[in-house]
Parts: sequence; structure tokens; C-alpha cells
Amino acid sequence: MSEQKYLHLNNGLKMPILGYGTWMASEEEITVAVNEALEIGYRHIDTAPVYLNEKAIGNVLQEWLSAGKVKRSSLFVTTKLPPPGNKPDLVESTLRKSLADLQLDYVDLYLIHTPFTVMLDENGEFKRYEDGTIMVDPSTDHAAIWKEMEGLLAKGLAKSIGISNFNLQQIERLRKHCTIQPQVLQIEYHIYLQQPELIEYCKASDIAVTAYSPLGSKGVGALNKMVGVERELPDLLEVPEVKQIAKKYHKSAAQVLLRWIVEKGLSVIPKSTNSKRMRENKDIFDFKLSPEEIEQLNKLDANVRVVDFAFFKGVEKHPEFPF
Ligand code: NAP
Repeated sequence: MSEQKYLHLNNGLKMPILGYGTWMASEEEITVAVNEALEIGYRHIDTAPVYLNEKAIGNVLQEWLSAGKVKRSSLFVTTKLPPPGNKPDLVESTLRKSLADLQLDYVDLYLIHTPFTVMLDENGEFKRYEDGTIMVDPSTDHAAIWKEMEGLLAKGLAKSIGISNFNLQQIERLRKHCTIQPQVLQIEYHIYLQQPELIEYCKASDIAVTAYSPLGSKGVGALNKMVGVERELPDLLEVPEVKQIAKKYHKSAAQVLLRWIVEKGLSVIPKSTNSKRMRENKDIFDFKLSPEEIEQLNKLDANVRVVDFAFFKGVEKHPEFPF
């Protein structure tokens, strides 16, 4: 089996460089897929309450843990404070709900999912205007939320904390007001969205970066269509430079896209519910791109963001909308 690699976090803990993404998979699909992911050897699992699959993942983890097939200490489970939970008094109770669903005593990493806050209606659904757009709560105070995130570490409910979808200015502001620096930033990152300034900033600040949607997140097109957003999205697996490099190493385009990310020192969390592709995505540690090939792929940066939250129409009006 391929070697398992880790990123060292600024608190002395380590995070497997390759993780398993779980967005846009139903409870039924994810039950089968997480079982398969654990069989294949994935030990880093990324989820969030907004993916609506924490309970199903929790059931699988519980089966594995109680059968002694895996030790809690060898798992790395990430979940996130959802956009409606972005209020200091909701941080701990929201994590406790995730922990109950995941059937865990702690998560390895708790991230603020987005820098913006949305409102919930009395049924717990996103509160919307008549035209369907989501209502935001503009009173978001990152420093106050972060203080509560720090409290989770002291209580042992999370081993590491971080942020997701924050831009450079937001991270800089947060770092000035925090006692404990974020351990991880999770952002969209792939050949077409490289954000070199943000990556450099995180490297200099000792914040590990996790790349989400590393394969271009094909499902976003369907989500966009559901809310009437028509947008052509790039197919990263068909990029000629990627295909050419893949051919040379007898690897797939997906493996080249993922390998390029881990060679940059980022962790990566591809999602697949297909057993063959899950194996393929994990099998990226037996080849190495040349400096010329890395440079060739670096040159493809086009500042194309796939997960621009257009499917959450209305959030772009929040004062902390990051993009
Ligand atoms: P992704 O991993 O870039 O792409 C997933 C898509 O690629 C699925 O349609 C999958 O289909 C397909 N795929 C997977 N492996 C493949 C392969 N080897 N060859 C061809 N197609 C392949 O997109 P993502 O799910 O958006 O991102 C990954 C994870 O990042 C998410 O699942 C989630 O955990 C996290 N994420 C976080 C945020 C955030 O706001 N923090 C946002 C987006 C994503 P099959 O399942 O059919 O294989």
C-alpha cells in the first residue's frame, strides 16, 4: 500500500496529507463509501453539518471503532461550524451536536466553514426572502467566534481549530485578535485557482492549507442549475497538459492533479463514492512530478473559482463575503 504522509500543524499535531471528502453524497451513498474508504486505508475524513451526512458517517465510524478495526487515535476527523452557527454563543452547542451525530468525543479539526453568517427560520431551514435568496446576518464578529473556538481546545472537544473560505485580509485580521493561531485554512485549490499570495501568507504564518475541490467539483454545476445559475465550469480532467503528464507516468489525470497539490505541501481531500476512483485518488505516492512539470501546471492558473457559493444566492450580500 502507498505510504501515508502527514502535514505537521503549528500545535505539534499532524494531519494526514490525503483525506476523504464527503460533500454531495447521500446518507446511503456515504455509508457504503466511508466503509470502503476505511477499508482502502483513508484515515482523514472531511465532513460538515451542511453535507447532511454526519449521522451516517458516525454510524460507520462507530462500527469500526467498536469492532476494534481502527483506533480513534489513528483517525483524523474534520467537521465545520456551519454558516448559521457563526455566533459566539452557538459555537460549542453546534460542535456538540456534530459530535453526537458523529458519535465521537472530539474532532481532530473544527473549522469555521465560512466567514459569513446566514439566518435560520423556525424549522431550522435557511431563512429566505420571497424571491428565494438567503437572508444573511451581517453582525458577524470573527474575533468573538474565534475566542469560543479556542475554548473548544481547552475543553478537549477539538484537537485543532481553523477556518475555511476566509480571504487573506480576514485571516490577517483574525490573527491579530487571537490567542491561538489557526492551525488550518481549508480553501478551494486546484490548477485553475492557485491563489499564490494566500498560500505564501499561510506558509509564512505556519497555517497548514487543505485543498478542497481539487478535481474541480463536478457536482457544483448541478447545484448551480437548481438555483437558476447557468455557468460553464472547466473540466480539469480534460486539460491537455494534465493528460500528457498522466500518460507519461501511466497515471490518471485525477492522480496528476492530486499529486501536484501534495507536492506543493498542501493537504488534499478529493471526494468520490466510486470504489475504483477512491483507490485511484489514494494511489498518488509512487510517482513524482519533475520541477518542469510542476511549473507547467503552475502556469495554468486562471483564477477560476468553481465553488463561488452562487448556489447559496444571497450570501454575496454579507459584509464578510470573501470572494
Ligand atoms: P472534488 O473532490 O474536486 O470532485 C469530486 C467529483 O469528482 C465527484 O463528482 C467525483 O465523482 C469525481 N471524481 C472523484 N475522483 C475522480 C477520479 N479519480 N476521476 C474522475 N472523477 C473523479 O470536489 P468536492 O467534493 O467539491 O471537494 C472535495 C471535498 O472538499 C468535499 O467533498 C468536501 O469534503 C470538501 N469541500 C469543502 C468546502 C468548504 O467550503 N470548506 C467546499 C467544497 C468541498 P464520483 O464520486 O462519482 O467518483
